[in-house]
Amino acid sequence: MGETRHTRVLIIGSGPAGYTAAVYSARAMLNPILVQGLQPGGQLTITTEVENWPGDTHVQGPDLMVRMQAHAEAMGAEVISDYISSLDLSKRPFVAQADSGTTFTADAVILATGAQAKWLGLPSEEKFKGFGVSACATCDGFFYRGREVVVIGGGNTAVEEALFLTNFATKVTLIHRRDTLRAEKIMQDRLFKHPKVEVLWNHGVEEILGTEAPLGVTGIRARDVNTGVETIVPCDGFFVAIGHAPASELVKDQLETHHGGYVVVTPGTTNTSIPGVFAAGDLTDHVYRQAVTSAGMGCMAALDAERFLAGE
Ligand code: FAD
Ligand code: NAP
Repeated sequence: MGETRHTRVLIIGSGPAGYTAAVYSARAMLNPILVQGLQPGGQLTITTEVENWPGDTHVQGPDLMVRMQAHAEAMGAEVISDYISSLDLSKRPFVAQADSGTTFTADAVILATGAQAKWLGLPSEEKFKGFGVSACATCDGFFYRGREVVVIGGGNTAVEEALFLTNFATKVTLIHRRDTLRAEKIMQDRLFKHPKVEVLWNHGVEEILGTEAPLGVTGIRARDVNTGVETIVPCDGFFVAIGHAPASELVKDQLETHHGGYVVVTPGTTNTSIPGVFAAGDLTDHVYRQAVTSAGMGCMAALDAERFLAGE
């Protein structure tokens, strides 16, 4: 049996939303506990340059998140390396069970579990995951020095991943299902100017091709969405960058969600459908999904929690 710990505010998640909530609730003398989850620092730890965090023209994502954790701890938040495997919001105090065996009870909960990469859902993608198929260029790009890679997607992540992969690969093919990208224009300009990048427009990926022993990728089979014509693109690595889905598994049967799992909050607040439970960042936001907006919502959640506890 693990120990049981009580806290006034339990923050679940260690991205910009979680750490900002921790800074504010620690400064409100609420002695918050923040549980980091499997990705300490959140999504920005799998990118390199961040160029739109106010105050830093350039900052490395992992460095920014180390600074945010240090800031939260310096203000008095307790940051714990653990994973919340279940959460009971049906009674007060709320009860969170962690993988380590610790049970947390809390007067208020701030959910900041963010989002996770989406996959195409192909059997061959599953088969080659970790053997040539990846959703993180910054984690796995190094393995493709002197090789050819394919990236699928048309948003900021796909363009960023494709550009990052040019540091290692001899050729990067970006495959997109439409004829225009949704990535920011400045990123598109960089992509189109890059001599190592080729874009295959209006194509979907049907299958990842590879060898059995050793397990490895040799190419992908793509299909033109307009003509149906198939093309084989040879490659050694395939990177999926088709967006992210909210990590709402813990609460999907307890809180109201919409747009495919995003937690619903009362507009202009971080209040969820259960009083005392607040949600911030990509978990609630199907529109902006930025580090700075997540941090802003983390601040709001801490202030909302403080008011809720004061009113008790
Ligand atoms: P996340 O950063 O997603 O963090 C979620 C946290 O929750 C993680 O720490 C995870 O471990 C934790 N967690 C999840 N489940 C549990 C659980 N059950 N128990 C405990 N903890 C849990 N935005 C920008 O503004 N600028 C950029 O340049 C930029 N670049 C990006 C590059 C990439 C490759 C990606 C993927 C995203 C990028 N974004 C960028 C978007 C930005 O990273 C997100 O908007 C932001 O990180 C969301 O913050 P968050 O705090 O809501 O959650
Ligand atoms: P996104 O903006 O949702 O883009 C996902 C892309 O994948 C879209 O182009 C989409 O095509 C495509 N796609 C989705 N499902 C697909 C499927 N099944 N098959 C093929 N293609 C598919 O996701 P994102 O690029 O991960 O960005 C998420 C958020 O993080 C955004 O708000 C973004 O601005 C932010 N972010 C910011 C930065 C930055 O500021 N530098 C960097 C990375 C991410 P369609 O275009 O046809 O829909």
